[in-house]
Amino acid sequence: MSHRSSWLLSLPALALTALCSAQTPSQPQPQPGRTLVHAAHLVDVRSGRLLDDQTLVVSGDRIVAVGPASQVKPQPGDKTIDLGDATLLPGLIDVHTHLTDDTNFDPYHELTTTVAKSALIGARNAKVTLQAGITTVRNVGADGFADVDLRDAISEGLIEGPHMQVSGPALGITGGHMDNNLLPESFHSVGDGVADGIPAVQHMVRQNIKYGADLIKIGATGGVLSKGDDPQASQYTLEEMQAIVVDAHRLGRKVAAHAHGAQGILWASEAGVDSVEHGTYINDEDIKMMKTHGTYFVPTAYLIDWVRENGHLPAYSQQKMRDVSAVEKANAKHAIAEGVKVAMGTDAAVYPHGLNAHELEVYVRDFGMTPPDALRTATVNAADLMGWSDRVGSLEPGKWADVIAVSGDPLKDITVLQRTVFVMKSGTVYRNDLHRQ
Ligand SMILES: [Zn+2]
Repeated sequence: MSHRSSWLLSLPALALTALCSAQTPSQPQPQPGRTLVHAAHLVDVRSGRLLDDQTLVVSGDRIVAVGPASQVKPQPGDKTIDLGDATLLPGLIDVHTHLTDDTNFDPYHELTTTVAKSALIGARNAKVTLQAGITTVRNVGADGFADVDLRDAISEGLIEGPHMQVSGPALGITGGHMDNNLLPESFHSVGDGVADGIPAVQHMVRQNIKYGADLIKIGATGGVLSKGDDPQASQYTLEEMQAIVVDAHRLGRKVAAHAHGAQGILWASEAGVDSVEHGTYINDEDIKMMKTHGTYFVPTAYLIDWVRENGHLPAYSQQKMRDVSAVEKANAKHAIAEGVKVAMGTDAAVYPHGLNAHELEVYVRDFGMTPPDALRTATVNAADLMGWSDRVGSLEPGKWADVIAVSGDPLKDITVLQRTVFVMKSGTVYRNDLHRQ
């Protein structure tokens, strides 16, 4: 009898415990009260101007004020972080990452990597990326939805990492860039996002959203690192891409299209995708279509430099890499000069995570962008592409307190962004090399 009554009693007790733990998030909680972040300089990314002697006021996970230090009145309980002569900027945004992948050109590596291992790799890379000053990413393509769990583990505070929008498995045609083409037919190896024809792509879009995708990634053309396909050949048809975009947009998701060849870029933009990734063979017809439709261009340019120096590609990729490397930069420079909108994406994983800000150096050095324009690709433009202009991309009241600092002036020397000395995300400090708190 006593056993029975204690069993009866324990039910509501258990329910209460479950309720309490559900209401006690393990996310690192910002200190109560305000944090004043002061530095000698702050970049206003919209105007492209360097402002002096600025204080940023953070409360909880948000920026509540920003302005000249003399105009911010300290209150009892305020905590101050003085970063001395450093320069404050909004945390950078990379709209094309693969956090659940490591740099590995062994074609069979992917076939021997489980979804659980991918998530663990992602946990390590998420931290590396955040520490490098990238406070927001889009992760574009992960079989098994390892990216969904990675995103959720970060937002639950289990691990450190940037804010994430994730795509789940990338959609692509049978035998295309998003499929697995290494094994003979008897092994039945098929990429998770492979779907052919309009009903199948509609189903795949809906299934990805069901399992947690924030955006849809598709393969509009062949790729460089995949076996047996041609970067210049379009893969999805215009009609398939139109079906994908209509469904994704109706369900509140953006669409990112991997596209190298000119025809695939044209169809992707015409179909209404939100961004063209890589864009290697972008031509004047593509540029005109993209400007008409407001399609963002995500160049992923630094990987060419890195692979040339360090990459040991499988035989089937070597000529393709030589071909795209020969034209990519000149075409991108032309498209940018013609006024196509650009958001920074890196394809990090092709080269080691954490080197993301090298991308901006290419935009300035090789594409002729001014440093303020380059900075906007990784802040306000990227935020716009993600549909997150209300929360990331600039140091303005109401936005998430995602703040980085560097030594030096990024408006004069964009490479200082490769050496971040301070990282705050959602009001929590994840890095402070200056230790001037
Ligand atoms: Zn990629």
